[in-house]
Amino acid sequence: MTLKAPYDPDNIFARILRGEIPAVKVWEDDHVLAFMDVFPQSEGHVLLISRTSTARTLLEIEPDALARLTEATRRTARAVEKALRPDGLQIMQFNGEAGGQTVFHLHFHIIPRWTDRSMKGHGHAPMADTETLRALADRIAAALDS
Ligand code: AMP
Repeated sequence: MTLKAPYDPDNIFARILRGEIPAVKVWEDDHVLAFMDVFPQSEGHVLLISRTSTARTLLEIEPDALARLTEATRRTARAVEKALRPDGLQIMQFNGEAGGQTVFHLHFHIIPRWTDRSMKGHGHAPMADTETLRALADRIAAALDS
């Protein structure tokens, strides 16, 4: 998928937003959804997407929707830090197939990092089981600032 391709309304995140396929949600409001990456690169890998924008990449998103999404990322990252106590956090975002993107609905990754644990490669992590992801999502949600 090039940077210029049209938005596919049947991409997997659009289908999650419409409730057509399941996701392990951390929190959501009218503007954003935070949910667990089902192929986590580290424990507690969370994805953030806009509900209102059909931007595929950072280049396309409307400034208001981006502001909501980055604030949601900041809020969720604080909760991840409080709940899981990582030594660091990577915030990642990929644009276009050549840029490493695999799902073409703009999203931010929050990937907790620990000094003594390696991170799995992007696109090379095994699928996690739903119960494990649900338990992590509940811990992160409980640590959200109101
Ligand atoms: P990117 O490669 O930046 O487009 O990231 C897409 C991310 O979506 C990857 O980290 C995948 O592991 C993740 N992913 C793919 N399908 C699902 C799904 N059904 N639920 C949750 N995460 C997914």
